[in-house]
Amino acid sequence: MSEKSPKLRPELDGVPAYVPGRAASQDGPVAFKLSSNENPYPPLPGVLESAMAAASELNRYPDMSCAGLMDELADRFGVPLEHLATGTGSVGVAQQLLQATSGPGDEVIYAWRSFEAYPIITQISGATSVKVPLTDGDVHDLDAMADAVTDRTRLIFVCNPNNPTGTVVRRAELERFLDRVPSDVLVVLDEAYKEFVRDADVPDGLEIYRDRPNVAVLRTFSKAYGLAGLRVGFAVAHEPVAAALRKTAVPFGVSRIAQDAAIASLRAEDELLGRVGSLVAERNRVHRGLIAQGWTVPESQANFVWLRLGERTGDFAAFCERAGVVVRPFAGEGVRVTIGEDEANDLFLKAAETFRAQL
Ligand code: PMP
Repeated sequence: MSEKSPKLRPELDGVPAYVPGRAASQDGPVAFKLSSNENPYPPLPGVLESAMAAASELNRYPDMSCAGLMDELADRFGVPLEHLATGTGSVGVAQQLLQATSGPGDEVIYAWRSFEAYPIITQISGATSVKVPLTDGDVHDLDAMADAVTDRTRLIFVCNPNNPTGTVVRRAELERFLDRVPSDVLVVLDEAYKEFVRDADVPDGLEIYRDRPNVAVLRTFSKAYGLAGLRVGFAVAHEPVAAALRKTAVPFGVSRIAQDAAIASLRAEDELLGRVGSLVAERNRVHRGLIAQGWTVPESQANFVWLRLGERTGDFAAFCERAGVVVRPFAGEGVRVTIGEDEANDLFLKAAETFRAQL
């Protein structure tokens, strides 16, 4: 018998682990999970009903083409069906995009720090990550990103708003950047937090993509629509990108429960976007509160805020946890805090104030 283990692709060596936001402890007096940018509101009754009804057919495979959901999306966003592709969360679609475009020897550009899945899925594809540091103001440095393009570049992620900083790129600078990127390089506008944006100068990717065949837009039902647990996201892109995405999808990856709940959510959009409005008001309140306490916090257009704490990151996260809120630390860099229930936001603000008073 051979002692050798099965051969695995060398690209998997050293793939960084995805660190999920920690769950809130069940034992403490109060504990709120503000570590995963989830929507704190439970599913709407009608959405839950759709999901429950779909559960009665768990013995069947879902519709592989997600036809009902695709029709609804095409209608809602005014895009042709051929420009749509779905996947298991927008992270699933992002992985499909990499599979469709990039492999060993290719380069994938993204800002850093940004969404932590980018380095993981890029490395798994075999391509090389080219990380372009954010500016001092924690914003994408689009000039430097355009400068980083080489003959090997296949894909560029622009995360707008950026996770974990909440910062945005605006219309004029994005257009200027896109004008500089060669037409055979795919630019992916990751708009997971789009519905939380209130800055009128932040463009809607769906306007930008129309005249630009090398732009794809990523959206998700996980955040504003509150379906993180169901794993459904989608891309809007021209042919042949959308067709390539449909080829690289995991067959039957989006469950019937997810498809039906997503359709029900689109039909209940007014109510869901009303909740988003409340979260935006809370975000602004938390931001103002932190500024009043003396913190430097970049303006956030997402459902979280970013505190650059450097060495104090771990201490701050532990302090918050003792105060009843679990935040998401990025060791040595900072802490991302999701906007949650009003009570959770109050607890967080109080913890931040007390921590600061001790400095
Ligand atoms: N893009 C960004 C920027 C995100 O922050 C997230 C979630 N953390 C995703 C994509 C993926 O979300 P999902 O897979 O749940 O759609």
